[in-house]
Amino acid sequence: METCTIKSKSREAFIDVTSQVQEIVAASGMRAGYCVVHVPHTTAAITVNEGADPSVPSDILTYLAERIPHRGSYRHMEGNSDAHIKSTLVGISQVLPVEDGKLVLGTWQSIFFCEFDGPRSRRFHVQLVRDSKS
Ligand code: ZN
Repeated sequence: METCTIKSKSREAFIDVTSQVQEIVAASGMRAGYCVVHVPHTTAAITVNEGADPSVPSDILTYLAERIPHRGSYRHMEGNSDAHIKSTLVGISQVLPVEDGKLVLGTWQSIFFCEFDGPRSRRFHVQLVRDSKS
């Protein structure tokens, strides 16, 4: 398993980590299998969506912020319940197929680390599962 570190620069952000993950896949020499990307945090997430138009991640963050406000009738004393809820809704892992040594992604798809309670240093893990037939 590989561990990557990133630094978020604002409270909320989608950070494109596609090239970092693809580099790990390429360096592994694995031709076919699965790539698991996992976030070990309770106020962050990982998702796959459009990377070509920055309006898309921006719209997703706006959609979530409008429905899950930062300040609300929450009980959690850290004051970041919105970030915990967003992490649960978006999810902390993604599994992507690998074929011919590359992540199988659509033309417009990118892998995003989703920061919901930054800025801070963050980690994510990449684990490769080789196809036994390849
Ligand atoms: Zn908290």
